Amino acid sequence: MTTFAQRAAAILPGGVNSPVRAWNGVGGEPVPIASARGAWVTDANGREYVDMVGSWGPAILGHAHPTVVQAVQEAAARGLSFGATTVREVELAEEIRARYAPAERVRLVSTGTEATMTAIRLARGATGRDVIVKFAGLYHGHSDSLLVAAGSGLATAGVPDSAGVTRGTAADTIVLPYGDENALTDAFAEHGPRIAAVITEAAPANMGTVTPPLGFNRLIATLCRNEGAVFVVDEVLTGFRAGPAGYWGIERDADLATGVDPWQPDLVTFGKVIGGGMPVAALGGRADLMEQLAPLGPVYQAGTLSGNPVAVAAGLATMRLLTDDVYAGLSRTADALATGVSDILTEAGVRHAVGRAGTLFSVFLGLAQAPVTFEQAAAQDTAAFGRLFHALHESGVHLPPSAFETWFVSHQHGHVEIEHVLDAVRAWANSETAHP
Ligand SMILES: *Cc1c(COP(=O)(O)O)cnc(C)c1O
Repeated sequence: MTTFAQRAAAILPGGVNSPVRAWNGVGGEPVPIASARGAWVTDANGREYVDMVGSWGPAILGHAHPTVVQAVQEAAARGLSFGATTVREVELAEEIRARYAPAERVRLVSTGTEATMTAIRLARGATGRDVIVKFAGLYHGHSDSLLVAAGSGLATAGVPDSAGVTRGTAADTIVLPYGDENALTDAFAEHGPRIAAVITEAAPANMGTVTPPLGFNRLIATLCRNEGAVFVVDEVLTGFRAGPAGYWGIERDADLATGVDPWQPDLVTFGKVIGGGMPVAALGGRADLMEQLAPLGPVYQAGTLSGNPVAVAAGLATMRLLTDDVYAGLSRTADALATGVSDILTEAGVRHAVGRAGTLFSVFLGLAQAPVTFEQAAAQDTAAFGRLFHALHESGVHLPPSAFETWFVSHQHGHVEIEHVLDAVRAWANSETAHP
């Protein structure tokens, strides 16, 4: 008899349609998910798990929120796609700008990859320069120029860079260690007039969660401005998830509280949360840059299903439900889990560190200090993570199947779910230290 995983692998390369869904990083065979509701997912065998994946970020309100489901059903009944502009896609773009002022103009696309790919093309088109600076371990989707030293999916698969990216493309991408101010300043001193853009995650969350060193985003912004390069802030994961205005909003509020002018991205990318589980992503930014996109300007970008009405209905309903109360709740849940897990591991004598960025967190086993660079993150004990993953899975907790991922909470993760996760972690930690 063939298992589901064998059947899937006989038709889908690796049995998946996106590498991070495979269990290569933890071993074993994934069980297909059948349904999800609130904080819980149910597999095809009827087993239920507290879900810490949340569709890799979009399920911020919990799965199958009734208001979102109803919005999708009503939109579908009005027609699936028109190939013409609708009122709701304008409303979603306005909703994004109202929360994130640097997004003066917005173009909706279907995936985060398209958003960052377009940002790079626009930066090159606007500056007439070729070179892109990115940071090792940060993921910006799978377009060629950004698929160098690109974080979780590749780290888990053990491939530093993708095959099929031309040498020319790779040569136009400069990769620096994250958080290294000297490396960044040196790169500008050496290549400044050739740099079209620096792209960074507002807070890295694709090598586990990393807190940006104080002032690092601001330094990038300053160097870009002085050298005429475009600062692209990738908030596909952090946007409307780390906090109400992404991770940029967290630093903006801290700056405003101390009387400092906040730094600004020139371009910003969104995805994940803004689609509420449907394929919606966006590029936003300075009006003068954004208006270089076709049909106004010479930088071409297009999409048959961009701003799709059913997808936009999910995104708009989700965004409208994301009140300050929801973010306060997410923050409390993330605190309870991050601190709870850490206390349990400390008590059991399991060496670990916790990375935090707003409501995002992840646990690095085997590290004494939360990492900043990919090199530091890669030194974690991935074998121990594999044991934790499987022990939790047995106990009914579904973690991301990789040590290089963020643990996602939703508004539906309440007291019951938090205690369920902490009990499972406690049981694992005790068994882990019982047989050293
Ligand atoms: C997920 C992600 C992307 C890519 O988005 P897709 O919709 O998967 O193409 C880009 N950047 C960051 C920071 C992400 O987390």
